[in-house]
Amino acid sequence: MAKKSYKTIILKIGSSTLTSPEGKLDLDNLKRIVSEVAGLVKEKGKKVLIVTSGAIVTGSEKLGMGKPKTIPEKQAAAAVGQSLLMRQYEKAFEAYGIPVAQILLTRDAITDHERYHNARNCLMTLLKESVVPIINENDTVAVEEIKIGDNDNLAALAAGMIGADALIILTDIDGFYMKNDEGIPYLAEEIAAITPEVKDAAGHPSTQLGTGGMITKLQAAEICSKAGIEMLIINGRKPGLIAAAAGGERVGTRFSVH
Ligand code: GLU
Repeated sequence: MAKKSYKTIILKIGSSTLTSPEGKLDLDNLKRIVSEVAGLVKEKGKKVLIVTSGAIVTGSEKLGMGKPKTIPEKQAAAAVGQSLLMRQYEKAFEAYGIPVAQILLTRDAITDHERYHNARNCLMTLLKESVVPIINENDTVAVEEIKIGDNDNLAALAAGMIGADALIILTDIDGFYMKNDEGIPYLAEEIAAITPEVKDAAGHPSTQLGTGGMITKLQAAEICSKAGIEMLIINGRKPGLIAAAAGGERVGTRFSVH
C-alpha cells in the first residue's frame, strides 16, 4: 500500500504512557513526546492536537491520596492534577517556542449542536494560530450523563470534530494483538475492518491506570472509520515512533480506511 503522510493529527497520550513504575507522572517521557511533536510541527509543518490523560494520576500523587475510588475523589484529584499536567506541557513546549491551549470537553460538546460548533471553531482557530491544543475530559463536571468516559473515545470524537487525517494512540504495548490458528498472539499490522474476530481479540480492559484497554480503542477505531479517519496504535515509550507513524511508515497497528 502507498505510504501515507498525515497532515492533521490527534495524538492520544494514555495514562500508562505518562506514569512511571512508581505511579508518578513520568516527566521524562512527557518531555520526549513533546520534543517529537515539536519536530512534527516545526520541521514538517504538521498540525497536532494532543488528547492527554494523567490528570487523576498526577493529582492523586500530589495529594498523596493513593488510587482514588469515589467519583468526588477522582474529580478532586483531576482538578489538582490537570493544572499540574498543563504546567508541564506548557513548560516543555515553551522550549520549542510553541504555545499550548487547554481544552476541557464533556459529551455535550459533541451532542449539543451549538457547543459542537463553538468547540470546533475554537480548535480550528488555535491550529491556524500554530497553537498545540491539549484536550482532556472536564472530569470535575463529568458525571455519568455527560461523561464521555475515556480518552480513547474522546480522542476519536475530537478527530471527527476537526476532520483530522489520523488519530495516533500511544499506549504501553506495540499495537493491537490478534491470535493465529494456534492461539498464539501476533501484532496486527493492519486492520481493514472491525470483524467479530477483532472484537474477540480485544478481550477485557487490561491497563490498570487508564480507563480503556483495547475495547475502548476499538470503539475509537469505529468512530474514526465512520468519519473516514485512519487510526494507529503505537508504543508510547519507544523513541521515533510518533514521527514514523505520522509519516506513514509501518509501525504498530493501523486501522485503515479505504
Ligand atoms: N481524564 C482522565 C485523566 O486525565 C483519564 C481518562 C482515561 O485515561 O481514559 O486522568
